[in-house]
Amino acid sequence: MALPQPKPGVMDITLYVGGKSRLSGVSRVIKLSSNEAALGPSPKAVAAYRGADAALHRYPPGDAADLRAAIAEVHKLDPERIICGSGSDEILGLLCRAYAGPGDEVIHTAHGFLMYGIYARSVGATPVVVPERNITADVSAILAAVTPRTRLVFLANPNNPTGTYLPKAAVESLRAALREDIVLVLDAAYAEFMDAPDYDTGLSLAESTPNTVVTHTFSKIYGLGALRLGWGYGAKAIIDALERLRSPFNVSAPAQAAGVAAVRDQEHVTKAKAHNSKWMKITLQRLRGLGLTVTGDSGNFVLPMFDGKKGKTAAAADAFLQSKGIIARRVDNYGLPNHLRITIGADDEMELLLAALDEFMTS
Ligand SMILES: *Cc1c(COP(=O)(O)O)cnc(C)c1O
Repeated sequence: MALPQPKPGVMDITLYVGGKSRLSGVSRVIKLSSNEAALGPSPKAVAAYRGADAALHRYPPGDAADLRAAIAEVHKLDPERIICGSGSDEILGLLCRAYAGPGDEVIHTAHGFLMYGIYARSVGATPVVVPERNITADVSAILAAVTPRTRLVFLANPNNPTGTYLPKAAVESLRAALREDIVLVLDAAYAEFMDAPDYDTGLSLAESTPNTVVTHTFSKIYGLGALRLGWGYGAKAIIDALERLRSPFNVSAPAQAAGVAAVRDQEHVTKAKAHNSKWMKITLQRLRGLGLTVTGDSGNFVLPMFDGKKGKTAAAADAFLQSKGIIARRVDNYGLPNHLRITIGADDEMELLLAALDEFMTS
């Protein structure tokens, strides 16, 4: 008798493994492996989360109306075109479920966020991986990969783990050149960290075109990764399709309450951004001073490249940092075996990190 078999594509998925958070024999671990918020969440979000404990026996509002209203107010958007999810990951998955299936193709770039390929395979579609140029998405390479079977294009802007981005004009030219029936998904997980004047989250494209979706998360600058909260914005017709597929109570009540308080506390976001900008500048300068190549400077992480000379490989750097209690992220599975992704942490964590990297490179 034949045993149950998963659908085609499922067993081709490489299991996603999150950043490590423990080291054996180390009492103080400095976790710089998952791009979590250096300053943690807004105290107002924590208070709102705690305040939700009086009604844990109640189902959450299925439409997340208050949260959508708060997001709409802060970002000046139409609340009817917002969908909330259990992390923005859920929205990315819903997009694949709604628009792709067996025989269809889903484009993402060579060093793009891993979940795009995973969600494409989960619906039986084929991920099409296009080359990047200087670890940066390349519009002409994306367009060259389009076939009649292409249904979705995923672009993290800025991208994790490369820290590189495409300027507004390039994203607009991509949208303009893509077929109209192809959904362009702009994953803006790190948008709030951006300063570059030529950068745009893509919300204006999502507003003005019938085939562009932007996703945002509360896991990065908002520091609410534990609650699993994200949102997407796009044409009403697309949001309608996703709404039909999501679980009816996909965002918990404590997450909704915390999300409302978090998005309204833009002062905290400003503080977190300033902390990040300060350390990004210092870290890039120090790493480059050690002879390391660092290309991208976007987001809340750096991606130094280790050239392997005199044994200074990414693997050796990772092992050395771990011996000091510091956890970075190996990115071999992103096709970047010579790089380490290191999240910008708190002040004391960054001092310790930079001292450790200095010791590693000069010993
Ligand atoms: C962290 C991250 C996400 C998703 O995070 P959620 O916690 O699911 O909201 C999405 N895209 C990129 C590029 C990320 O780095």
